[in-house]
Amino acid sequence: GDKWAKAIEIVKDMEEKCATPIGKLKQIADAMVVEMHAGLASEGGSKLKMLISYVDNLPTGDENGLFYALDLGGTNFRVLRVQLGGKDGRLVNQEFAEVPIPPNLMTGTSEVLFDYIAAELAKFVAQEGEELRLPPGKMRELGFTFSFPVIQTSIASGTLVRWTKGFSIDDTVGQDVVMELTKAMERQGVHMHVSALVNDTVGTLAGGRYFHKDVIAAVILGTGTNAAYVESAQAIPKWHGALPESGEMVINMEWGNFRSSHLPLTDYDLALDVESLNAGEQIFEKVISGMYLGEIVRRVLLNMAEEAAFFGDTVPSKLKIPFILRTPDMSAMHHDTSSDLKVVGNKLKDILEIPNTSLKARRVVVELCNIVATRGARLAAAGILGILKKMGKDTVKEGDKNRTVIALDGGLYEHYSEYSKCMEDTLNELLGEEVSKSIEIVHSNDGSGIGAALLAASHSHYR
Ligand code: ADP
Ligand code: MG
Repeated sequence: GDKWAKAIEIVKDMEEKCATPIGKLKQIADAMVVEMHAGLASEGGSKLKMLISYVDNLPTGDENGLFYALDLGGTNFRVLRVQLGGKDGRLVNQEFAEVPIPPNLMTGTSEVLFDYIAAELAKFVAQEGEELRLPPGKMRELGFTFSFPVIQTSIASGTLVRWTKGFSIDDTVGQDVVMELTKAMERQGVHMHVSALVNDTVGTLAGGRYFHKDVIAAVILGTGTNAAYVESAQAIPKWHGALPESGEMVINMEWGNFRSSHLPLTDYDLALDVESLNAGEQIFEKVISGMYLGEIVRRVLLNMAEEAAFFGDTVPSKLKIPFILRTPDMSAMHHDTSSDLKVVGNKLKDILEIPNTSLKARRVVVELCNIVATRGARLAAAGILGILKKMGKDTVKEGDKNRTVIALDGGLYEHYSEYSKCMEDTLNELLGEEVSKSIEIVHSNDGSGIGAALLAASHSHYR
């Protein structure tokens, strides 16, 4: 009847507003390149911070010894121990522990958050056997992967610009996060030295390079999203120090904060942004990353329930709860291959307490997931095209047989296959057949942790 037609109209309207034709994606890639130049030219010159990582050499394979990494992402943090055996031994051994971050710690105090992390680190180290004892007088060394915007002042120090991804702890902003961690480790009785502070994108780039020599950029699609790439040191006007011997510098783009008038934003996105902890910031992130995709779908479903009685005469109360529909659940619905869309039915029942949905209604829900995921994936591809353009890798050069490899990681990329496939297909479409052949995407599984340990090794205190 009328209500059904109204519901369909809402979905169609969403589809139109989320459209990402190739021409638009190219405009977005071009806008990304413009912002990259601006961010490299001067501090504060762009929405893209284009942060200098102080990583001017990526792993070579020669790294040797026992190193640790601590990876603080958006939902979990991981503690990692790696045994590096140099050129021949390579990655001899790795062990890790993963711990969820209690949500209340994300908006508490700096001391409580870092104490919690340091205490977990202490537990991890306490479980080690005798064989891992370091020589007397030598401290364990740690690479700290910290996936938030930080202005680095050296390879092992940097101040937090602002939190993202649902974190909001005022007293950390402006502080040196290595100092915060070091003080917490002291309070918890952990004796470790932070030898490298790296963004997860930079860690993933380093980890990626260790396994594939042609890796030149890394992209994270997880709770949030970001990218890093290898820039020519001469192309960074805002860098006033001595040029690194390698002539290169890894740049942490902080692309989650990208914004452009070409981005297809809907009223749902604008409302999500306004009601978020970081209104006006991380707009690119808010349309493409794992923290937000499920929430966008929830907002459209709520509108359909309110305006078109899509789930019956009363609006399901659970549907009004922000972030109740998580991206992993959205992805499970999107991937449902059963003929009666049983997974969709169960998710709607279990999460939103909406029983007995019709097959017709379930199909609409899947379509909506597809619309939201497709927009995100295609925009992520446009961002990657931007990086390739900036690096001059978006065309085939005569006689150049080099491959260009981009390392990808993050739970969204890893688990949401409709999304990753769409992203990769779109990138190929943007690049065209010829160029696509020279560009490869590899999954750098947990590269950010290993990469941080590798960078701790190459910047060891004891070298
Ligand atoms: P972080 O980004 O917090 O460092 P991850 O890279 O592990 O951590 O990414 C976790 C995020 O990945 C989750 O917040 C979620 O958005 C997304 N994710 C995890 N599992 C799935 C899944 N099965 N389908 C879709 N997205 C998922
Ligand atoms: Mg992470």
